[in-house]
Amino acid sequence: MPRRGFFRAKIADYTAKIASGLIRPEDFDTPILARHVVKAVRNIGMQLRSVREGVLFCALCKRGPFTKKGYFLHLTRIHYSEILHLVDLESERISSSSKNAGF
Ligand SMILES: [Zn+2]
Repeated sequence: MPRRGFFRAKIADYTAKIASGLIRPEDFDTPILARHVVKAVRNIGMQLRSVREGVLFCALCKRGPFTKKGYFLHLTRIHYSEILHLVDLESERISSSSKNAGF
């Protein structure tokens, strides 16, 4: 479905932007995604941020070093479906843990 594809592309895009440091996690928010998905994008973005001695390396395949822009492109080109999968798992985790907490 094209509309679903649009959301998937946005999710991968923003996660990669946070991971590469192009935007800060707290700067990411959008009314088009559910709250727990926004949170999941922020969390996975931070998890994929791997900086060694001031330079970016890929948290998933250890390649690098990258510039911010380079890491962003690497993530969206090479790890697109992995990112979506990680965000899916994280948003499920968040929504089930908030249910368990009684929200
Ligand atoms: Zn990689």
